[in-house]
Amino acid sequence: MIVQKNISLKKYTTIHIGGQSGNIYFPESIEDVSSLKSTLIDSRTIIIGKGSNIAFSDAGYKHDLISLNKFKKSSISVINKNTISVSSGISCARLAKLCYRKSIPGFEFLHGIPGTIGGALAMNAGSFNQSIWDCVKSVTIINKKGNIEIISSKNIKSSYRFVDKKNVLLFLEVLLNIDKKKNFDKKLLLKYTKHRNNTQPIGQWSSGCIFKNPSKKISASSLIDSLNISERKIGGIYISMKHCNYFINDGSGTCSDLIALINHVSKLVKKKYNIVLHKEICIYRGSHE
Ligand SMILES: Cc1cc2nc3c(=O)[nH]c(=O)nc-3n(C[C@H](O)[C@H](O)[C@H](O)COP(=O)(O)OP(=O)(O)OC[C@H]3O[C@@H](n4cnc5c(N)ncnc54)[C@H](O)[C@@H]3O)c2cc1C
Repeated sequence: MIVQKNISLKKYTTIHIGGQSGNIYFPESIEDVSSLKSTLIDSRTIIIGKGSNIAFSDAGYKHDLISLNKFKKSSISVINKNTISVSSGISCARLAKLCYRKSIPGFEFLHGIPGTIGGALAMNAGSFNQSIWDCVKSVTIINKKGNIEIISSKNIKSSYRFVDKKNVLLFLEVLLNIDKKKNFDKKLLLKYTKHRNNTQPIGQWSSGCIFKNPSKKISASSLIDSLNISERKIGGIYISMKHCNYFINDGSGTCSDLIALINHVSKLVKKKYNIVLHKEICIYRGSHE
């Protein structure tokens, strides 16, 4: 198993924010994961997928990190007409593309989400009124005792961008239900991609939406938009003109800039609408200092 240390965590986040790392473990097999039991049980250990919803403090993260980017890389299979098995290091886009090629409906919404299946399970990622936990049959996890366990989705509570992980340290694998009531629409994937390209700043250094939507009817971006905010930039982090809930790193942005802009926007929204915005991005602190 590859282990790296003292690597810039900017490389591991799509918003390119973070100082130096502690040990980063890259398990490739179940045996590697099992050998990390004591590391996994340590509550300071962070799992990283593609880093598309995380940032680390500028002073870095001195504790252990585990990346599933090399875990059972090719493990994705259509088991039967009803079920797909996917290991958590697989990217959402790869699953969506496989389903597209095989004319399997229902997973198009995952195409533009630039994370892993494990990250999607942890965040209950979704788009276009669908979230990954809508499709989950069961998950194979490492539980809080460090043991492998298969859990039915009925036993894990989930809601909009929330998953109850009280017994989960790590998502290893998932069985996804294929919705037989849905018809395959060849144009849907393209339609979703087009919509994203038109409305979101794709290809820039961001972590997607910074805040969760306060409700189904009120989006965080519409609230931020309506502030007509004058200070759209702090240090190297700015609010995207294309989508107000995307904060972009111009290349010089730091974690302090990001936190300052998050606090600034949150305060303005609270003052104007008396609404508390909750962060979607996970910011980890645990510096070497
Ligand atoms: C351009 C852009 C567009 C985006 N669009 C969307 C969107 O439409 N919808 C949406 O929901 N999100 C979106 N996101 C956010 C992000 O892609 C998702 O939250 C994604 O699911 C995160 O996956 P990841 O592998 O990058 O996880 P990471 O960012 O690496 O980790 C996120 C969290 O999940 C945990 N985690 C990761 N893997 C595992 C695992 N195997 N087991 C347990 N915990 C784990 C991490 O510890 C962390 O707490 C977007 C981001 C970007 C940059």
